[in-house]
Amino acid sequence: MKYDFCVLGAGLAGLSVAKELSSIPDVNVIVIDPHGIGGGASGSPIGLANPATGRFATKSWRAEESIEAIRSNLVDVSPYSSEKLFSRSGVMRPAMDSKIARRMQENLESNEWPDDWCEWLSEDEIKTRFPDLHSEYGGVWVSTGITVAIPKYLQALSCYLKENGVEILEKKKFELDRSSGNWNIKLSDGTQFEAGHLITTAGIKTKEFDFWKELLLHPVKGQVAIFECEDSFPYKAAISALGYFASLDSKTFVAGSTYEHNFTHEEVDLQGKEYIEKRMLRVMPELKGKYRLIDQWSGVRASTPDRMPIIGRHPSIENCSVFAGLGSKGLLYSSLLAKEISPFLIDHSTLSSEISLERFNSK
Ligand SMILES: Cc1cc2nc3c(=O)[nH]c(=O)nc-3n(C[C@H](O)[C@H](O)[C@H](O)COP(=O)(O)OP(=O)(O)OC[C@H]3O[C@@H](n4cnc5c(N)ncnc54)[C@H](O)[C@@H]3O)c2cc1C
Repeated sequence: MKYDFCVLGAGLAGLSVAKELSSIPDVNVIVIDPHGIGGGASGSPIGLANPATGRFATKSWRAEESIEAIRSNLVDVSPYSSEKLFSRSGVMRPAMDSKIARRMQENLESNEWPDDWCEWLSEDEIKTRFPDLHSEYGGVWVSTGITVAIPKYLQALSCYLKENGVEILEKKKFELDRSSGNWNIKLSDGTQFEAGHLITTAGIKTKEFDFWKELLLHPVKGQVAIFECEDSFPYKAAISALGYFASLDSKTFVAGSTYEHNFTHEEVDLQGKEYIEKRMLRVMPELKGKYRLIDQWSGVRASTPDRMPIIGRHPSIENCSVFAGLGSKGLLYSSLLAKEISPFLIDHSTLSSEISLERFNSK
């Protein structure tokens, strides 16, 4: 069997790219993941697609297009799941001190937000709309923020892809051979197939491929805690300050996350839980004593020197491309960038300089 494209990795990057490529008539695509769908950083139980990023709620790069792209993918795949995949209930970003409040307000004025996307709420307005939330300095209400159950989204996306002709091989080990000019992929059970083009979307594991070992990716571990509320999580919207706190079922909520640059193991630990909990109670002090830990989860993000993703062709190996470095914005950027990668691979269109691999080669 010969495929046009073989995608290595079934996370947000890999499955989003598979969706775009498979929508082109007569293009056939296979995805392989030795660990399974969402086996990397995309296994985080809940994440936010939030266009007001960082401590000061700065408008993200191509915010309008990114939100539209993820929204549209979520809508496309929702019929393939019986569970709630997402909620467009917005994100409340309370300022935790006066400096943050000032910088948030400056960004709100200078960032040219579309109408109705963002609004400054005073302390009293927050008290009315989000009782018990830390509100001393006011904060930004981001109506377009989306809360997503990432693994459920990816499972639904994989069903969508299979129905649309994409082959997905999960938990299969493989070896690559390029001696014949094409990519020859050999599975551990002896099955073999060929692919015209290889796209590596293996998150931080991308660097484990010999030909991508020089890629400027660095690991940032993240942990989240999953809590169950005594009553119910008090807010429909997600809360983002000193981390994020979000619920899709009103009974349990995810609190995260840590940003660990120097870590000795990839598992969850007590320090992670305590760090998250301490910050959570600064933002939502009234929750104290009204919740219990039911689970923890950890993953390793692939970050880049300028915190922008990387897409590009290998400088010396033909028909070999990469899409990685989504850092902490996989939900925001995966759908949008998958739309860029497909004309880049097929029609050799130019990539935006902000995300092109070339930006590092030319320095
Ligand atoms: C705790 C935490 C919280 C987060 N919260 C958010 C959030 O709120 N909003 C947001 O936008 N982003 C969030 N992120 C970041 C987001 O999860 C990542 O940006 C995104 O998952 C990266 O997707 P990816 O497909 O590039 O990589 P990954 O998700 O890491 O996927 C890589 C895939 O490649 C597979 N793989 C590994 N080795 C190989 C191999 N040899 N061959 C083939 N496949 C291989 C893995 O099994 C995995 O399935 C969070 C991350 C963490 C860790």
